[in-house]
Amino acid sequence: MDSCLFCRIANHEVPSDILYEDDSIVAFRDISPQAPVHFLVIPKKHINNIMEIEENDKELLGNMLFSAQKIAKTEGCEEKGARFVLNCKTDGGQTVGHLHLHVLGKRMLYWPPG
Ligand code: AMP
Ligand code: ZN
Repeated sequence: MDSCLFCRIANHEVPSDILYEDDSIVAFRDISPQAPVHFLVIPKKHINNIMEIEENDKELLGNMLFSAQKIAKTEGCEEKGARFVLNCKTDGGQTVGHLHLHVLGKRMLYWPPG
């Protein structure tokens, strides 16, 4: 999608601080980090949000989660953990309409969020 910011990041048309990339996903640091470690994992193909994933996206979602775990470990979050978040639509606080998994670490977070 030409107008989608995260599609443009996935296509390297918009610069980002990329941590990992393969055929189906890209992981990059959040531009406005809310924790010392804060990165996003996105599918290269455009999916609006988690409500729109389909049966044949299961492998893609597994890759997103497994890669998020690997990067979180590389970023030093294995011992104390991290928060893995998928915001969805208005009530979920989603502001960018391309599926993305947040990973926040190296900061104590509380539940429920504000
Ligand atoms: P959400 O509110 O869940 O839709 O999160 C969108 C996230 O994208 C926010 O944490 C933003 O800081 C982040 N973001 C927006 N633009 C960029 C960008 N150009 N590069 C990296 N992260 C971005
Ligand atoms: Zn997109």
